Amino acid sequence: MVVAACGAVLAGVVAVRAGMPQRPVPAAAPATPPAPAPPYSSTASPPAPPPPEITYPARGAGTWRFAAGGGPLAGRSGQLMRYRVAVERGIDGIAPDAFAVEVTRTLSDPRSWTGDGRWRLQRVGNGSPYDFTVYLTTPGTRDDLCPGDDGYTSCRNGERVVLNVARWVHGVPRYGAPLDAYRQYLVNHEVGHRLGHGHEKCPGLGRPAPVMQQQTLGLHGCVAYGWPLLDGRLYRGPAGSYDDPVPEGA
Ligand SMILES: [Zn+2]
Repeated sequence: MVVAACGAVLAGVVAVRAGMPQRPVPAAAPATPPAPAPPYSSTASPPAPPPPEITYPARGAGTWRFAAGGGPLAGRSGQLMRYRVAVERGIDGIAPDAFAVEVTRTLSDPRSWTGDGRWRLQRVGNGSPYDFTVYLTTPGTRDDLCPGDDGYTSCRNGERVVLNVARWVHGVPRYGAPLDAYRQYLVNHEVGHRLGHGHEKCPGLGRPAPVMQQQTLGLHGCVAYGWPLLDGRLYRGPAGSYDDPVPEGA
């Protein structure tokens, strides 16, 4: 068996192999190395760019750009409240429609005010009948629309739900939760005022903070929590508020 012999003497003398009968052998697959992989596949999505930085002056124009309406109706039952969403001119890096998406996502969440069947909320465009407006304002214009002149907090005043862009961008120190969680708190808290809720206190050390607690100013032993509902039920603390100082500056 020539083939077996060849195998047996593979490590032997080259002359033996050279003397073996020449037979055609199937061409081996060319030993071309695989092409190197490109840095990333051309069919994969490139990573999402970071959101643009939001910039704003201390005081904006006091005029507004409104988001388009037509958001989904959130909530299965209860009183319907329609709301507009607006961003003050001078605030850059967040378009009204993008801000509205975030507001609507929070208010449509099953943990928000619409989650227990007491309220239905729907975003509408400017020019449609509405029950309140969510404004993203500069600190200076916040002082025109809200009680006091701290330039720091947000408020609800009449039909106006006024969210201070400085808090939207920077959150608050020592909140202990990501900025997105603070933003959810901010929306739910101020809209909660519009729905008739007053301030509440921390119900106990280490417990979640009720959404109507003034979490912007202090947690008082509670843990940051931005939703009205907990385990599907309205979660509340004792009525009242703390005499916390408002921090200086933005
Ligand atoms: Zn409040």
